[in-house]
Order: sequence, then C-alpha cells, then structure tokens
Amino acid sequence: MLASDLHVHLDGSLRDETLVALSRDAGLIPATADAEEFARSLRFRPGMSLSSCLSRFDMTVGLLQTRRALERVARELVCDCYLDGVRHAEIRFSPALHTREGLSLVDALTAVLRGAEQGVGEALASAPTDRMSARVVVSVLEGMSEEEADALVDLAIGLADSGVAGVDLAGDEALFDPARYARPFARAAEAGLGVTVHAGEGGDAGNVAAAVELLGADRIGHGVSAASDPGTMSLLADRNITVEVCLSSNLHTGAVESLGTHPLRRLVDAGVPVALATDNRFFSATSLSREYELAIREAGASRELVAQSVLTSADAAFLPEDDRAALRELYHSSLGPARSEPH
Ligand SMILES: [Zn+2]
Repeated sequence: MLASDLHVHLDGSLRDETLVALSRDAGLIPATADAEEFARSLRFRPGMSLSSCLSRFDMTVGLLQTRRALERVARELVCDCYLDGVRHAEIRFSPALHTREGLSLVDALTAVLRGAEQGVGEALASAPTDRMSARVVVSVLEGMSEEEADALVDLAIGLADSGVAGVDLAGDEALFDPARYARPFARAAEAGLGVTVHAGEGGDAGNVAAAVELLGADRIGHGVSAASDPGTMSLLADRNITVEVCLSSNLHTGAVESLGTHPLRRLVDAGVPVALATDNRFFSATSLSREYELAIREAGASRELVAQSVLTSADAAFLPEDDRAALRELYHSSLGPARSEPH
C-alpha cells in the first residue's frame, strides 16, 4: 500500500544505527556499548507525558548540529519512507534548534532540503519511473517570541521554491498561545505556504478550534481532543481540515489510554478528513505501514477508513493541485479493487 506521511519529525525519526553512530562520534556512548540497548533506552513508552516525550528530543537535537548530520538524517529518512511505501513525505523540524554549534537558520534548513533532495534521488535511482517527493515544513516552537516566529516564517517563505511547503506550530501544548503567532502564520499562508498546527494532543478541543480560527490551520497535528466536542468536529469537517492522526505517538504521550479507545473512528464518522502519520519513527519505533496496521488491528479501522485515509494523505499534502491529483491516482490504484468490496 502506498500513502503520504504528512507528519514526521526529522529529529524524532533517525535510523537506530545513525543515532548510535552520531552518539559515538560525539563521545556520548563508548564504542563498545550495546547499540540496540542504547537505542531501546531512548524510545517512548506508553503513557509517558507529552513533556517527558519532548525532553527526549534534547538528545537527538544535540546530535544534529552540523550540516553533515542534518543532511544525512534527512536523506536517510526519505529513503526509509520510500522503502515503506511512502510516496510523499513532509518532514518537519525547527531550524532554530540546530544553531548551537554555529549553523545559521538558513544553513540548517538548506542542509535538510539538500538531504531530502538527495534522498528522493537515491530512492528513485533504482526505480526511475516511480514517484517520490519530499517537502520540508518549518516548525515554530511554543514559547518562541513573535519575532522568532517571524524569522522562521521569513526563512520558510524565502526557501518556498527550494522545497519548503509549510509551517507548523509544535512543542509543549501547555504553552499554547495562538494569538502570539497569528500574524506570522497569516503571512506564511499569504505567501502560499501550508499551515499545520499541533493542537488537541495535550490540550483541549478549544485549542483545535483556536488553531483553525486564529492561526488559519489547513491541517491539525493530532487533534485527539477535537473528538470530545461535536462543535469542533463540525468546524473541521465543514472547513475540510485534515487531522494528522499519529496512533503510536498518541499512546506514548498519553493523549489516549489505549488504541482501542482512540477517537480515530469518531473523527471519521463526524466527517473529519483524517490522514494517518508517524510523528516519530525512531522514538515510537514505527513506520507508516505499521501505523496503518495498528489502525486496523487495534483502533478498529475498517478497510474503507484506511482507503479514505490514504486518499486524504494525497488530498491534504502541501503540494500544487496537479501533484496532489497525481498522488491520489497513484494511491487509488495501489488500494486495488478491494476498496469497493462490501464490508
Ligand atoms: Zn508532531
């Protein structure tokens, strides 16, 4: 099955062996340390709080302070996504977190754009007639000043023709302050960038509505709590705002107690467009195909729901209309005739 991964964090999605190699290079673990055990010790576990999950990024972000490391992880991520059946990936990260050792914001972003482009080239090297695209979404982080957000939006707009497709608001939702970022996000939208906002992950449905009303979100990251409020679900459905649902991540951050109680089906039943996504391939030890398996096995998704999600992952991509239509056609044919079978 083919689909887009519209919500995947660069700094949460390193290959195990790359994390180990970079940690060894940085002297964080002895050369003789058990690499598997080291990687395992960093993974998320069910029911960790959002803040505990976020604190683990200190480690990976610390390893990604050079052009070379950023380029490498972006390239590898695109290749890994492709091998998993992803044909369009939107990789998000905040360049502001990668300037500790002297990189500028633009250095960090161009390194990731270059790595992503190399990844696409590598993925298609053995299948030149296949399709793969990767775009970068620039994350503004909760707690940043409006000026810091402005700087990131300017950066994203400046590199829109080089593979930046959108902006995101990420971080600890306890600090959610949408009014602060309304102006920068409006500028991003005016410049043609897509807007996605993490909301309703650790906060209530009101945050989801505010992300739409104040930040002009085209998509919502997580949006779990929207399902507790019919009005918010109607808002999302009426405005055709896609919720990027990341099942493993929601279990790990404690946004849901179990996948059996995840509101995936409730959102879909209310007419909200939903696209499954990975969030953090490394921390959650997952992949997009695994998230689809979990949806079916543990979250009660029907084959029809899966098909809808796959097609939404084409429709909601931050790509020009022609590219979205081409993706939709590709995904539609990959779903095969089973799509129309009665359930
Ligand atoms: Zn996320």
